Amino acid sequence: MIDSLLEVIYGLNRDRSSGHEKPHKPVLLLAALELIDKGLASPGNVPFGDDLREAFGRFFAVVRQGNDKPTIENPFYYLQSDGLWSVRTAQGSLMAPLGVNQLLEVQAVGSFDERYQPVLESEFNRECIRESVLSRFFPKQRDALRAVMQYRVAPKVAEEPVEYRVQRDSAFRKVVVDIYDYQCVACGMRIRLPPDGLTFVDAAHLIPFSESHNDHPSNGIALCKNHHWAMDRNLIAPGDDGRWHVSPLLKQQRSTGEAALLGLDGQELLPPHDAKFFPAADSLRWRLERLAK
Ligand SMILES: [Zn+2]
Repeated sequence: MIDSLLEVIYGLNRDRSSGHEKPHKPVLLLAALELIDKGLASPGNVPFGDDLREAFGRFFAVVRQGNDKPTIENPFYYLQSDGLWSVRTAQGSLMAPLGVNQLLEVQAVGSFDERYQPVLESEFNRECIRESVLSRFFPKQRDALRAVMQYRVAPKVAEEPVEYRVQRDSAFRKVVVDIYDYQCVACGMRIRLPPDGLTFVDAAHLIPFSESHNDHPSNGIALCKNHHWAMDRNLIAPGDDGRWHVSPLLKQQRSTGEAALLGLDGQELLPPHDAKFFPAADSLRWRLERLAK
């Protein structure tokens, strides 16, 4: 169940009208998680009040960009459209957005969907979710956000529990493979077997997680096993020119066995179905700089 919760969170519908994805919904999630950690809320009962507003404001100040306004009333209402959360008031459900004062007046309470409440009861799961929210939405502000979080101390990566890493990997794989529609970014190979969607492609980190702590989809690409193997060994690398590069080591070989890899040189990267997930330039450069000489 945590898998499907992470999927919903990764797919949060966010306002992009200002040219960047608005941080409001993930910031509200972080604030709600903190309140639950502190015992000031429960997964089925997150009161709209001073505690939630204070935590929201504290996180928002770290991640705001451009003309972002700390309008907590918007995500508090609109998070309902993602199937993750509902809002009730002393009078019943909340069917239209309200301002802050009105929300206080009607004693509005947010509630995670019943399906997800048992998952969120566990402190361990909440930490997994918090980590996923940071990786997906705020990889660059992760340390700054951790610094203003109360109650929870960031786990060191070296101490990352195995189950925790498995959850994180699974969320990253699902998102990245889906973004590339189950196709290898190098050769375009696409094998997907029903009924479980068993696939031949992997989600490969551009800058490894151990170094970047970055699970944002723009730090990943989908690769078949062969190309994943070759990239991990720095024999091929995607570049920030949007093309593949092949190591000079391979070019010197010229045996038929390497012909398929050599043919990749200069080919364009297969793009993700949504341009906003195109690999980040710094992640691509990182790979290219490590191409075996
Ligand atoms: Zn391939």
